Amino acid sequence: MMRIQPILILMLLLTGCVSRQAGKIITVNGEISADELGLTLEHEHVLVDFTRQADNAPEPYTLDEAVAHVLPFLKELQAHGVKAFVECTPMHVGRDVRLLKRLSDETGLHILTNTGFYGAQNNRFIPKQVLLMDAEAIAQFWIAEFEQGIEGTGIKPGFIKIGVDRKPLSEFHATLARAAAITHKATGLTIMAHTGPAVAAFQQLDILREEGVSPEAFIWTHASDEKDWDKLVRVARLGAWISLDKYGWKEDYREDYPRLLLKFKSEGLLHNVLLSHDAGWFDPGQPDQPFKPYTPLFDELLPRLRQEGFTDAELNQLLVTNPATAFTVKKRLFTNP
Ligand SMILES: [Zn+2]
Repeated sequence: MMRIQPILILMLLLTGCVSRQAGKIITVNGEISADELGLTLEHEHVLVDFTRQADNAPEPYTLDEAVAHVLPFLKELQAHGVKAFVECTPMHVGRDVRLLKRLSDETGLHILTNTGFYGAQNNRFIPKQVLLMDAEAIAQFWIAEFEQGIEGTGIKPGFIKIGVDRKPLSEFHATLARAAAITHKATGLTIMAHTGPAVAAFQQLDILREEGVSPEAFIWTHASDEKDWDKLVRVARLGAWISLDKYGWKEDYREDYPRLLLKFKSEGLLHNVLLSHDAGWFDPGQPDQPFKPYTPLFDELLPRLRQEGFTDAELNQLLVTNPATAFTVKKRLFTNP
């Protein structure tokens, strides 16, 4: 007993050190250590209300109705060993943190939600008064959600989600990127930016640099919409995350994704890539809309990648290590201006 105790104490100390090094991730059920996250889908949706405009009332639904729609698909996902689910629906597009908490409680999945505004689709999901705000004022609103929780629930965002249109940034979308940078500096939350083609990705990274925020804090969401793959490699080399998050959306992607991943592998950049489906979802305005399952990645892409020579360690990097690193709450400041 006398000999075991110091060893136990040492182990506890080491475990403590390891989890401190791993950093923390914020889920709808509170903080976890990044090494608890496990197999993760980094960009999915359980509910999106695309029929509304920001200043109109949302379509009515009950939590029971939404849970009934979504739960079977989450259970299917768990059968594939998935432990964590990053829910990317922004405020005013159907973000419902009570629903996410209930789904997390019923499944045991780690679910992350976000703060931010979705400017894509020409600002139709942005309240009119927000269009008049400057970056600092918008950031203060998001920082308040981080500090106090969302809509009185105490549930905190695990990342920042912004959306910009698929073209050079408008003045307001540049403001959103700047607000995200300011919020990152205050909170350490990672910036997930619905972007599409490269032009706006480079512009957002320029704004982050002006604000002193590293590309490591930035997820280029929907990066596979950019057809010049050398631009994806350039952005990855800067240290940003490349989110290949639309597997299953288009027939083209069935060929593009394995080829893109082989390119990143040959460039030694797999540690900058995230994978997901951007699938789901229950739309209360169109409740009969077919639900896109969260599983083609497991049914098709992973077997194909194994055929192409990807090892378990590389797949683990893409689906476990990279999301844990990307969503760790940590201030990533630009050190090489
Ligand atoms: Zn999405």
